Amino acid sequence: MMYKFLYITIGLFAIASCVGSQQISSPSKTQSNNIIVNNISEFNAATAAMSPGDNIILANGVWTDAELVLQGQGTTDNPITLRAEEKGQVFLEGESNLRISGQHIIVEGLVFRNGHTPTGSVISYRTSKTSLCNNCRVTECVIDDYNPSERFESDYWVDIYGKNNRFDHNYLVGKRNRGVTLAVRLQTEESRENYHRIDHNYFGYRPTLGSNGGETLRVGTSHHSLTNSNTTVEDNYFETCSGELEIISSKSCQNTFRNNTFYECQGTLTMRHGNETVVDNNYFFGNRKPNTGGIRIINESQTVTNNYCQGLTGSRFKGALVIMNGVPNSPINRYFPVINSKASNNMLIDCDHVQLCAGSDAERSAPPTNTQMTSNIFYNTQKDDVFTVYDDISGISFEDNILSENITKPMYDGQAVKSGFTNKKLKFVDKGDIKICTDYPKIGPNIEQERPNKNNTGVSWYPKKDYQITFNSGKVIEVLPGDNTIWKAMKMAQKGDIIRLMKTGQYHQSKSVDINHTVTIESANGLADKPELTFERSSLFNIENGGSLRLKGIRVSGSESDDYSGNAVIRTSRYSMIDNYKLIVEDSDFIDLDVNHSFNFLKVFKNTFADSVRLSNCNFENISGHVLNLDKEIDNTGIYNAENVVVENCTFRDIGGTAIMLHRGGKDESTFGPILELHNSTFDNVGYDKRNKHEAALSFHGVQYADIRNIDVTDSRKINLHLIVGEPVIKLNDINFTNSEKLESNDDAYQSSNLNYK
Ligand code: CA
Repeated sequence: MMYKFLYITIGLFAIASCVGSQQISSPSKTQSNNIIVNNISEFNAATAAMSPGDNIILANGVWTDAELVLQGQGTTDNPITLRAEEKGQVFLEGESNLRISGQHIIVEGLVFRNGHTPTGSVISYRTSKTSLCNNCRVTECVIDDYNPSERFESDYWVDIYGKNNRFDHNYLVGKRNRGVTLAVRLQTEESRENYHRIDHNYFGYRPTLGSNGGETLRVGTSHHSLTNSNTTVEDNYFETCSGELEIISSKSCQNTFRNNTFYECQGTLTMRHGNETVVDNNYFFGNRKPNTGGIRIINESQTVTNNYCQGLTGSRFKGALVIMNGVPNSPINRYFPVINSKASNNMLIDCDHVQLCAGSDAERSAPPTNTQMTSNIFYNTQKDDVFTVYDDISGISFEDNILSENITKPMYDGQAVKSGFTNKKLKFVDKGDIKICTDYPKIGPNIEQERPNKNNTGVSWYPKKDYQITFNSGKVIEVLPGDNTIWKAMKMAQKGDIIRLMKTGQYHQSKSVDINHTVTIESANGLADKPELTFERSSLFNIENGGSLRLKGIRVSGSESDDYSGNAVIRTSRYSMIDNYKLIVEDSDFIDLDVNHSFNFLKVFKNTFADSVRLSNCNFENISGHVLNLDKEIDNTGIYNAENVVVENCTFRDIGGTAIMLHRGGKDESTFGPILELHNSTFDNVGYDKRNKHEAALSFHGVQYADIRNIDVTDSRKINLHLIVGEPVIKLNDINFTNSEKLESNDDAYQSSNLNYK
C-alpha cells in the first residue's frame, strides 16, 4: 500500500516535469543550477555549456548504452556535479560508461550494472589523451558485475589520470575479466606527483582469473615506475579480492597504503616497482583460507610498519611478509634488489610463512642489503618453521623481534641468526577479532583509528552481493524415471536447487541439459540401485556461463549416445565463460562411454575456468576418450582451465585416453594454481588408445601444487610431470606401479617416497 502511494506520487511528478520537455527534449532547470536530464541528448545539451555550480541530475531509471562525457570547469566553492536523481535509482546499463575532465567535478550516486563498457574503462578521469581531470571526485558509485562476455577481453573499471583527484565511498564488486579493477595512470607529466586519494571504497569479491591481469588496484606501470605518484590508498575494505598474486601492485614511487582491511584475499599487497612506498597500519585477515598473503617487499627505501596479519596461509610470493631477491642491474620490468628498506612493529599472528630472499634464482641473485627487520611479533603456536630463507640474509639487520616459544629462528647456511630474535611466551587479550599483545602493546596497529569494514566503506544504499557458489541452498524438485524428466526439471530449477531422482530406473534424455545455475542432481536416499542416466546427444550436461553442477549417487551410461566421435557426459560452454564454475561429482559411476572414439567424461573449452573440480567415490569404466582433461589453454601465457582439482577414492578402468590431465604453460608467476590433490585411487589399463597424444595415464604440466598419494597404477601408461615456474610443490607418496610405464619428469625437483615398481 505504502509503495503504491509512493509510485503514484512519483508518477505525478514525472508527468509534470515531462510536459514542458517532451516536444523539444531539452533539459529542464528546476531551480537554480539543478538541471534534470532524461536521456543522453538532454545530457549532451546540458553539458555543452556548463557554469560553475551547475548540478547535472540524471533522472531515475535505466540508462542504456549511455556514454557520458563530462568536460567542465568548476571551482573550489562552486564545483560542477553530476549525480543521480536518487541514489540507487539510476542504472547505467548495456554499453554505458563515463568520462570526465576539467576541474572540480563531483560525480555521485551512479550504478553501472547489466552490461560492460565499450571502451577500455568504465569510469575514466580523462576525456581524451590530453584532457585530464584535476581536483575531481567520484563518490558513492557502484560498479557491479559489469563485465564483457569474453573472459580475456581486457578493460579497467576505473582509470585515474590527472592530479589531486579523489575516488571514495564506491562499491566495486564482481570484476571477472582480464584487467585491473582500478588503475592510477602515469603516462604523462600531468598525471605524476598526483596526490590522488583513494579511500573508503569497498572492493568486493574478485574471483580468481587464472592468469596475470587480475589485480584489484595498480598504481603506475613498470615503464613509469621511477617517477613519483604520491598516491594515498587508505581506509578501504578489500573482500576476497583474489584475481591473482597481486591484490595491489604498486608500480611507482612515494605511494602510501594506510589503514586498509584485506579480508580473505588471496595474494599480497606488492611493492612491485618503485621506491619510497609506505605500507602502514593495514589489516590482513586470512581466516586460514588458502593462498591468503600479506605484504611483499621489492625495491628501495620501502617502509612497512604497524601492520596486523592474522591467519594467513600463503607461501612463497604469497607469504604474510615477503622480502624478495632482486636482479643485479635489473631491467625496468624485472626485479630491483631490496635496499634500505624496513619492516618494523608488525604483528603476525598465526601466519604460516615469512619469506626472506624469496624468488632467489640464477636471475634474481641479489639479496637484500642495508635492510632492517625490527620489533616485529611472529606468533604461531601451530607451526615452528615459519621462516624460509632462500639466500644470504646478512644484508638484513634483525633487532628486537619476538617469536612465540616454538618458532625456529631464521637459518642460513645451517646457522641460526645469532641475534635479533627472542622466543617468548606472550600474553594476549582479544579486542574484537584481533589480538593485542599485553607485553608489547605498542607493536601492531593503532587500534584507536577506525578500521575499515563492510559498513563504513562503499555505499549504504546498494545491496551487498552474495558471491558464493552454494549448492543445496534452494528447493527440492522431485523427478521420476522417464524421458527428459531431468531436462524438464532443469527448466524449473533456480540457483541452489536440488533435482532429486526419487526411484531406481532409467532417466533418458533426448536433449542435452543446460546448466545455467548452481544445481545438484542426486538420487534419493535409500534406493536399492543407483538411478541410471542415458542420453542421445553429444553431451548429457552443458555447464553454461553461470552454471555449476553437483552430481551424487547416479550411474551414467553412454550406451545410447550418438554414434559419433567426441561425445562427453559433461561439457562446458563452447564460448568464453566469464563466471568460474564448480563441478562436484560424488558416489557415482560412469560406464560404457565408448560408442565411438574420443568419448570423454568432461570436455572443456578454451576461455573457461573451473574454480574447482572434485571427484570422490566414483568409478570410471570402459571409456574411449579422456576422463578429466583440463588442457585447452595451450598458449604458454600462464592461462589454464582449473584452479583446484581433487580426485579421491576413485577407480579408473579401461580408459583409452588420460585419466587426468592438467596443463598450465609458460613462465608467468602471477597465478596460484593449478592445484591438485589425488588420493586413494586406482588406475587400471589407462592411456593406451592410439589417439591419446599425451601417451600417459596421468599428465601434469605446469601444476603449481600437487599432492599425489596412495595410488595404484596397473597395466597403464606413465605418469608424466612437467615442472615449470618458480618452485612448484609436487609430492608423490606411496605409488605402486604394476606392469606400467615409469614416472617421467623433466626435472627432479619433486618430493617422493615409496614409489614401487613391480
Ligand atoms: Ca600481476
